[in-house]
Amino acid sequence: MQPFLPLAQPIFQTVGVIGGGAMGRGIAQMAVQAGSDVFLLDSQPGAAQAAIAAITAIWDRLVTKGKLTDEMRNLHLTRLSAAPDAAALAPCNLIIEAIVERIDIKQRLFSEIESLVAPGTVLATNTSSLSVTAIAANLQRPAQLAGFHFFNPVPLMRVVEVVAGLKTSPVVCEQLTGYARQFGHTPVAAQDTPGFIVNHAGRGYGTEALRVVSERIADFATVDRILRDQMGFKLGPFELMDLTALDVSHPVMESIYRQYFDEPRYRPSVITAQRLAGGVIGKKVGEGFYSYL
Ligand code: NAD
Repeated sequence: MQPFLPLAQPIFQTVGVIGGGAMGRGIAQMAVQAGSDVFLLDSQPGAAQAAIAAITAIWDRLVTKGKLTDEMRNLHLTRLSAAPDAAALAPCNLIIEAIVERIDIKQRLFSEIESLVAPGTVLATNTSSLSVTAIAANLQRPAQLAGFHFFNPVPLMRVVEVVAGLKTSPVVCEQLTGYARQFGHTPVAAQDTPGFIVNHAGRGYGTEALRVVSERIADFATVDRILRDQMGFKLGPFELMDLTALDVSHPVMESIYRQYFDEPRYRPSVITAQRLAGGVIGKKVGEGFYSYL
């Protein structure tokens, strides 16, 4: 396998990635490695540039380790640029959104993008928990929008859910499925339901662990240690929450709970609500369940 050799013909030649956070930067990196030209857009000044610097540092490390040639690194860099504004995404064949997990903001963004791009452009949302059908509801061309749900960190978690909303065109899902394969990822088709497959089936991992802690059965470090070291999970549930960060994962818990009409199984925890309110959200701020300072 040669994961860093770009393919001759990516399914989408020009790709816009919106949101240069944890997910957007991983998706942008993989899209470039698949041979696409990528424009990265972020609403925060300097965020797209910071994401590009982080991706460049990854490629630099791969060169140092002998896993990527200098030539290929330089080629990758020519394919990755910051978009100054949404209008710069007009030539894209595919737009992948990885912004804040808020339906109103995602809907507004796609309405704007739809008015800028060609009718055949595919629109993809990396939402973890929101309804793809609802995100597309106000669009002129809802058939062009699908869920394209990656996992963190994108270059290492090689699975992506391709989610068809009620009106999504099967052709769009086929294209995204093929493109995921060009990333070296395993695509899996999922229906548009709260949390899709992984965040639905995996819900109990976090919520039950939070219950164990809130009922004082064991502390969080013990729960992590047992599940990681004895049960074979790569990360304990609290380590995973720290990696994802509670500003991302707590709203996902709330969203899935609400969408299932307050089903008690999915009820979020006051522990994560309080920590989110206090800004103790995880690794990216240096402090979560564990300290990273
Ligand atoms: P993040 O907070 O790390 O990054 C989000 C980025 O989007 C920020 O840089 C922010 O400035 C930017 N942004 C916000 N609103 C914007 C707008 N209107 N236009 C342009 N840029 C905007 O978040 P993340 O962890 O990368 O998550 C992004 C999306 O991916 C969310 O929908 C989340 O649910 C989903 N997701 C996250 C994970 C995860 O583990 N972090 C996994 C799968 C899916």
